[in-house]
Amino acid sequence: LKPVPSDIEISRSCVPKPMDRLAREVGLMLDELELYGKTKAKVQLSVINRLQAQPDGKYVVVTGITPTPLGEGKSTTTIGLVQALGAHMKLNVFACVRQPSQGPTFGIKGGAAGGGYSQVIPMEEFNLHLTGDIHAITAANNLVAAAIDARMFHEATQTDKALYNRLVPVSGGQRTFAPIQINRLKRLGIEKTDPITLTEEEITRFARLDMDPDSVTWNRVLDTNDRFLRKITIGQSPTEKGHSREAQFSITVASEIMAVLALTSSLEDMRQRLAKMVVATSRSGQPITTEDLGVSGALTVLMRDAIKPNLMQTLEGTPVFVHAGPFANIAHGNSSILADKIALKLVGPEGFVVTEAGFGADIGMEKFFNIKCRYSGLRPHVVVLVATVRALKMHGGGPTVTAGMPLPKEYVEENLELLEKGCSNMRKQVENARHFGVPVVVAVNAFKTDTESELDLICSLAKAAGAFDAVRCSHWAEGGAGAVALGRAVQRASEAPSNFKFLYDVEVISFSTSFLKVQGKRLVDRLYSSVSICGLCFVQGFGNLPICMAKTHLSLSHEADKKGVPTGFVLPIRDIRASVGAGFLYPLVGTMPTIPGLPTRPCFHDIDLDPETEQVNGLF
Ligand code: ADP
Repeated sequence: LKPVPSDIEISRSCVPKPMDRLAREVGLMLDELELYGKTKAKVQLSVINRLQAQPDGKYVVVTGITPTPLGEGKSTTTIGLVQALGAHMKLNVFACVRQPSQGPTFGIKGGAAGGGYSQVIPMEEFNLHLTGDIHAITAANNLVAAAIDARMFHEATQTDKALYNRLVPVSGGQRTFAPIQINRLKRLGIEKTDPITLTEEEITRFARLDMDPDSVTWNRVLDTNDRFLRKITIGQSPTEKGHSREAQFSITVASEIMAVLALTSSLEDMRQRLAKMVVATSRSGQPITTEDLGVSGALTVLMRDAIKPNLMQTLEGTPVFVHAGPFANIAHGNSSILADKIALKLVGPEGFVVTEAGFGADIGMEKFFNIKCRYSGLRPHVVVLVATVRALKMHGGGPTVTAGMPLPKEYVEENLELLEKGCSNMRKQVENARHFGVPVVVAVNAFKTDTESELDLICSLAKAAGAFDAVRCSHWAEGGAGAVALGRAVQRASEAPSNFKFLYDVEVISFSTSFLKVQGKRLVDRLYSSVSICGLCFVQGFGNLPICMAKTHLSLSHEADKKGVPTGFVLPIRDIRASVGAGFLYPLVGTMPTIPGLPTRPCFHDIDLDPETEQVNGLF
């Protein structure tokens, strides 16, 4: 493998084709496109209606073995595979990927546009503000946060009558209820009369949400790795009259609004989901929603552009949708249903849509199937499982791999023994994927230090483990040409019989079902320290939502340093929370920071702008 220039140099060396040409090539009408500069455009949702009669293409999900903290190349393989299928095998294709958070871009991991000769371009546009969707989520999320604390403050400092008079002022002799307030009356079971007049008891019920400040689950968000916002005290100015409380920030991509964006199926559906989000509990135990706060309409307005997928392209000119990027730690970590749906229509029945599920197969793929496919109704044809020599050696007992540090010698010299031992993790992840009844193709992402014997060993062990096929690929170093064998294997697998099934039925959900099967663990203490919270989820009527396990991705267990296939452990569930608008329950396994911190030497040390050329340097 020849020396490969830096990601940003490769990205910059390629001139993206004009968006109108790209749009025409993929079958979009020009008036379905909303340009954001010269290299990005939003695509209107009306495309789905226009192409309603068109059969969908083949649906491929890219996942991985349990990774090292460096990442094993899922994004790179997603892009390499569509370049192979599209630019080399001349099939209609679309890649659907997540929009990265600026936290990792400026923190430890860097960007997420793929790498080497398999990238989304321009990578600086992709990795930074894109079309502002994440900023819209920050704005919407923080409007809810402001609404919660302001409402608690006003309720604490006013009588019921005064609250009512301010919430529903009299104009022209009549109370002027906003439509969202009429909805609240309906939910409270208060008969609507004309003109609406409420009894004293109804005024109290209507005007006072009576949120318990200790029950607020809604955090403020920021798309920056700022660890000092993990715990803060708000309301310390004298103007808030002592109404201070401890609160916290999460990273924007951990906002429930991001998960809503990823799981919604239409503007109307998004409006309903944004109204259903539960932010707190009243002192009498009732869930308080964004609609109760009167803010859900405004949220929909803030999110009305973000709902449209963003069209970009790969280095080889094949189309990419970049849309939504829910935090894979506490949400489901998959790009949007809407982008996948539009792409499946655009490629047609002979084409391929390759979508990426974040984290390893036990986390991202499991959530892709049990949550995303459950809501979308889409059925995948093939799973591509990315494996690397380095991660498998780590599972075989190799030393710790740390981002930013040189790899220990075990990883750069041939060591078949370590590798063979570590293939247990790949075997388990192949088995996990096969539980869902979909054929699995293992993609061995080759690094320049890997040897022929090492790559061959992985392929033969993967086939022995039940993979439909296993192929090595060199798309990082060679672009789509290096993934043609993978493309052919995926094409063959897409024609093989597939018998997709969920691992559990939400109506009879038991916390063990999915995870016992996928991770081979005993959940005997599944309600450990969480009985009341779990009970609350059921009392509030959310017990039938799918499960989104919030757990480390660095091990099949809850302990990041347990590599290979840990067995016989007990999974400690600390708490179970509900994302009612997005539509899942998320049990927290261990401590799960929802806003990362910065290392001593963050990526931003290398990032700068050349004032002469206006080029961004140092992104990777
Ligand atoms: P993931 O999506 O699994 O987190 P990425 O595709 O983002 O992983 O890859 C992680 C990093 O590794 C990126 O910087 C990418 O450029 C690099 N990378 C991926 N594959 C290779 C390879 N075969 N050789 C060298 N570097 C690679």
